[in-house]
Amino acid sequence: MFLKLLITLFIIVIVSSYVYPKHFKRKKNKIQCNTKRVPLSVNFHFTRQCNYECGFCFHTAKTSHLSSINDAKLVLKKLANEGMKKINFAGGEPFLYPKYLEELIRFCKQELMLESVSIVSNGSKIKQTFLQRNKDYLDILAISCDSFNESTNKKIGRGTGQHVAKLCDISQWCHELGIKFKLNTVVNAYNKLEDMNDNISKIAPFRWKCFQVLILENENGGGEGTLRDAREFIITDQEFEEFIKRHSGQACIVPEPNNLMKNSYLILDEYLRFLNCTNNDKTPSESLLDVPVEKALMQAGWDQEAFIGRSGIYDWSRQPSNICGSNQAKELAW
Ligand code: SF4
Repeated sequence: MFLKLLITLFIIVIVSSYVYPKHFKRKKNKIQCNTKRVPLSVNFHFTRQCNYECGFCFHTAKTSHLSSINDAKLVLKKLANEGMKKINFAGGEPFLYPKYLEELIRFCKQELMLESVSIVSNGSKIKQTFLQRNKDYLDILAISCDSFNESTNKKIGRGTGQHVAKLCDISQWCHELGIKFKLNTVVNAYNKLEDMNDNISKIAPFRWKCFQVLILENENGGGEGTLRDAREFIITDQEFEEFIKRHSGQACIVPEPNNLMKNSYLILDEYLRFLNCTNNDKTPSESLLDVPVEKALMQAGWDQEAFIGRSGIYDWSRQPSNICGSNQAKELAW
């Protein structure tokens, strides 16, 4: 009896797959779609040039190349067609090319209608007028700051003594203009013992990324052909954890130890290629001008699960949500 039932069921399934082939195919496509890589969030390092000299920099000025604006737009459109929702413009220092930057952020917001457009900068070249003009096209502005002590910043190579004052101005401009203000800190041998709690509470970023200083052999490993030797900046995992623990009361803190960072960022370089950071290196894919996004993605060494695992998807559009500190930037006197 049981055997009869089993055979009947088997026949029903076989017959159904012929009678309703679309149903079965659709199911298969759905599974394929779920496993497909989607370049949801892309970091476009369109220049390697920078006016700072941070000793641990891992995207150094090895070239002065800048793709034409038309080529850059073409590739950004290709990425948007494949599912990109967030773009982050980075460098080098993106504000060394303000017109180029302005045209691209407007293009991404107005024409590609991306959910989130952001810039990460050292802040030194940012003008209030740029932000006023572009406030409707910029969701997030991230500024790098590793210390609230200027002598530490100087030792690191972040500027010549005005870094914190400028950071304070920019955070204030962002709060006034409704641009989300983010802070990036590289935890390293020079700032690992610092207590930044008071200053973070005053500046009130909506997100505070704390990276463990990272060595990439061909960028800052100190060997032949590199422009930096970041070995003096290295800290242990435990030292990084202690820094994070000291600041764990900050709701906006997002720690990124080395193991989370390496393959979880989708990096587009100045030649419009993805950079594969596996093997402690940056190996370029073919140019997105020449191959489909999917093919370049396969060469990118990008770990989509690690991207999701490090909270790569977050509240990234422009709605204000200052959750860190009390937004008292006005009261700051540097
Ligand atoms: S500001 Fe950024 S890009 Fe410039 S040297 Fe420092 S780490 Fe490198």
